[in-house]
Amino acid sequence: MATNKSLANVNFNDGLFARTSPAPCDIQMDKVYDKLDFGNPDGGVWKQGWDIKYNPNQWNLNKKLKVFVIPHSHNDPGWIKTFETYYRDQTNKILNNVIAKLQKYTDMTFIWAEISYFALWWEEQPSSVRQATIRLLEEGRLEIVTGGWVMPDEANPHYSAMIEQLITGHEWCDQNLNGYRPNNGWSIDPFGMSPTMAYILKRAGLDNMLIQRTHYSVKKELAKHKQLEFNWRQHWDHNSTTDMLCHMMPFYSYDVPHTCGPDPKVCCQFDFLRLPGGRASCPWRVAPRAVSEANLAERSILLLDQYRKKAQLYNTDVLLIPLGDDFRWDGDKEWSDQYTNYAKIMAYVNSQPDLHATIQWGTLAQYFKALRGESFQQSGDETKLFPSLSGDFFTYADRDDHYWSGYFTSRPFWKAMDRTLGWYLRGAEVLYSLAWAEMEYNGVDKSDLMKECMAKLLYSRQMLGLFQHHDGITGTAKDHVVMDYGEKMLLSIKATQYVIQQAANYLLTKNKANYKSRTDIRHFDLDDTRTESWRLPEKTLINVGTSAKLVVLYNSQARHRQELVSFIVDSYNIKVFKLQKSQEDSTNTEIDVPFQISPVFTAAGEVSNVQYEISFISETPPLGLQSYFIRLLKDDEELEGSIASVEYLTDDRQFYKVEPFNVKSSGPRSFSFSNSYIKAKFSSNGMLESVTTLDSGDTTTTNLNFLQYGTRRGGDKSGAYLFLPDGQGRLRELKNPLVKVVTGIIKSFVEISSDWNDHRAMVVHTAGEEGTAVHIENDIDLTAREMDNVEISLSINSDVQSGDYFYTDLNGFQVIRRKRYAKLPIQGNWYPVPTMAYIQDKKTRVTLVSHQPLGGSSMASGHLEVMLDRRLAQDDNRGLFQGVQDNRITRHKFKLLVEKLEPGCVGEADSQASYPSLVALAARHSLLHPVFRLIKEGDESSAGLLTSYSTVSKPLDCDIQLVNMRTSTLYGSSIGPSDRTALILHRHGFNSCYKPMGLRCHTSGGKVKLDDLFPSLYSNNVNQMSLSLMYEGDRHTDTVPVTFI
Ligand SMILES: [Zn+2]
Repeated sequence: MATNKSLANVNFNDGLFARTSPAPCDIQMDKVYDKLDFGNPDGGVWKQGWDIKYNPNQWNLNKKLKVFVIPHSHNDPGWIKTFETYYRDQTNKILNNVIAKLQKYTDMTFIWAEISYFALWWEEQPSSVRQATIRLLEEGRLEIVTGGWVMPDEANPHYSAMIEQLITGHEWCDQNLNGYRPNNGWSIDPFGMSPTMAYILKRAGLDNMLIQRTHYSVKKELAKHKQLEFNWRQHWDHNSTTDMLCHMMPFYSYDVPHTCGPDPKVCCQFDFLRLPGGRASCPWRVAPRAVSEANLAERSILLLDQYRKKAQLYNTDVLLIPLGDDFRWDGDKEWSDQYTNYAKIMAYVNSQPDLHATIQWGTLAQYFKALRGESFQQSGDETKLFPSLSGDFFTYADRDDHYWSGYFTSRPFWKAMDRTLGWYLRGAEVLYSLAWAEMEYNGVDKSDLMKECMAKLLYSRQMLGLFQHHDGITGTAKDHVVMDYGEKMLLSIKATQYVIQQAANYLLTKNKANYKSRTDIRHFDLDDTRTESWRLPEKTLINVGTSAKLVVLYNSQARHRQELVSFIVDSYNIKVFKLQKSQEDSTNTEIDVPFQISPVFTAAGEVSNVQYEISFISETPPLGLQSYFIRLLKDDEELEGSIASVEYLTDDRQFYKVEPFNVKSSGPRSFSFSNSYIKAKFSSNGMLESVTTLDSGDTTTTNLNFLQYGTRRGGDKSGAYLFLPDGQGRLRELKNPLVKVVTGIIKSFVEISSDWNDHRAMVVHTAGEEGTAVHIENDIDLTAREMDNVEISLSINSDVQSGDYFYTDLNGFQVIRRKRYAKLPIQGNWYPVPTMAYIQDKKTRVTLVSHQPLGGSSMASGHLEVMLDRRLAQDDNRGLFQGVQDNRITRHKFKLLVEKLEPGCVGEADSQASYPSLVALAARHSLLHPVFRLIKEGDESSAGLLTSYSTVSKPLDCDIQLVNMRTSTLYGSSIGPSDRTALILHRHGFNSCYKPMGLRCHTSGGKVKLDDLFPSLYSNNVNQMSLSLMYEGDRHTDTVPVTFI
């Protein structure tokens, strides 16, 4: 095969973004990390801080302390109980009370975050309650904060799912709450904070946000300089357009003992749910006392003292005091105890002029309004008083060396399923939108089918959204709750499969105007059968007959795509072809497609004689469908496909010879696979050893291994949240591995089967992007009891001189530079790897692209590592009350890229911002969004179908990603599609010093013409929208410019 160096045409200026230095910031988190000693001295009552002193004369009659007490209730959509059980037991009572009590206590306020619960509750409310709710929202006494479907985890979710759950929530608010638009973010429980969230909220049009769980040393450092309120700027921002005003809470927790001030022993006395005889008490052994005539002054002064101390940590006299906890405010007594006692204190303080303070009930909106007002007074600008800050808040530690880096990996089976559902949902959204537009274009109204499909899409959006919750994708819920999420994801996968096959059948239909929809039959099988949510999927065995079997490949990307596809068939005497219409007589001719027949191995490692795998390099049009056919050979036809050769690297066992394969056994030996881009060399045990990039001729060591970690012997141990290893990872050998080497013209791979892992490494013989990577899969099995307190990682040891630096992505949206610190324990040097990690030196970059979110690190120069699974026998004391022993056999998919920097080329500025190459971006996209394989069901005729479908006349540039094409939902008596479709595009910054090997796309300054993308389907009536579609921006009639920010 000819070497395709690159057909991509990359505009030099498009690499400028990465080469330009970010704007300087007042606080850069990497610099803060350099400076901190991460000591943990006892700070007294504020354990992780210091003894706060203040001068009472800092306030006077004209300069009062203005306190906003903000009642809130943190409702996890699944954790100890399932979403529905929580709702039935607790949340519905809480929401009933919020509406009833806010009407009773006419100065009281409340904030609510989780729309998943709010929407469920709403369904059950009579119109009187709905109207009262809307009145409270309009009065501003009830505020929806963030307004997402959930309060998402910020380490593991992909940014497309973070956006989707926000759109789902905002769309619901808009249509059900009379156009209500949330304006303030509230993220009090996720375990570490990502700037991606700040970016998304900013672009969604929100003005302010609040965060809580950040490293205690970081809190202390920012508090010391009164910098807990800042303008959070993206670390790659060249100016200040991404600045988001952010309030960081200063103390250990969001509960009442840790929010009124530095002393939890005092603050707990002002949580009147804990009055003696109640359902909770104060662990500091001083109980609350009801406020009375007799103690009013003393109680008020005691609380005000805490408020005043807390105010010393901030830059203004406006003070935010959250008042709530998990699933709070559900009973009458709690409401009246909290309200009446606080009301007395408020009345007292407000009536004493010499106290120089006002205390009032408030919302987050009221707080930020007052805060911005203060900044404006002092600086002439609403945000100028606050410093700018760039970077992120990983990895979170709440106390001691308890770093929360375990949940980056916990329950990886479900983390991988999240990405699979994300793939399906996006695929279904895009195809649905195309079908809906085609129906409009063809003047047909198939509203029943489209309504049914929209209901399925909506369900899937909501369930994908639900799983982004910080006890969902994190893997930190009880076993039965994990299973409940899994069932919901499985139902969603089936729902989106339904939408995809219905939409595909319509789009492929020749006579679209007279389409008769059949919702009772399944037109296509998506070759991905899932009998149980927790099992690995199975591929369909295609029974090949003499009449051709139709398979349709669906490319949800807005670019041409060349991609390896494989099917399982029951015969090897077959051919694969495409149909091409001849110009003269419009008859179809068969065009042969080169393919490879590879063995399917039985559980015993033998070659099957009833199943075969066929593989070929498919070509699919942008946002399009392409038909391929498979049929048995006729008597006069010869087998054109290439037969893979099979070699077992063992000499102590005999294997069956199975037609048509050449099966041989040999002793252990090293071997290599080559294509036109790379030569991958493997050691005699079958593990990858090095990668040679053929363009440069350089060989890079890439020794792959598996490492094992145990947990500490004494004290706190690893659990669902925490990673508390017993030292560095140790080599874990595979026991009696069976090594099989399969070589062919389309793909070559090695498969190593052992007791706890089936490992595969593959090289694809293609001129496309897939040829540049080594494809790695592991089926990890930690289901056995003897794996208790074992964590297994995949480790790469290279000769890249990476020093202390490595790079990990944030939510698949951006990349951030990490530094390994000796002053941090092992677990403090682990970071989220939601989609990729790399190490680099002046010549070489080694990138591991990951299908599933995991934790990762670089424990030495040249080293890169990701955790694969963890099985933990004990609770780690963060409220879950169980270990992690519900492991499932989990399939991890990776691509390993070795890229050579063009000599002398400077691809990015020296900063915390780093950028993947175009090839890495493409590799990630095809890993997360492979082409869909649709197998035509049964004997339904394909005569009325087109052989391909695409509407795109000019594909998108390499650096522009179609994040989603999503038709809005119309709520009403029934669910249906609206006539608005949102096209969400992301232009990636990229490092242009790595050759765009195998790519055929271009970059051209980041302009998109809707006319080129959809010449016939959509009108030129295009509105720019804010990211969650709450606000309409400029109207465009022709060229829509896509900008970076
Ligand atoms: Zn929570």
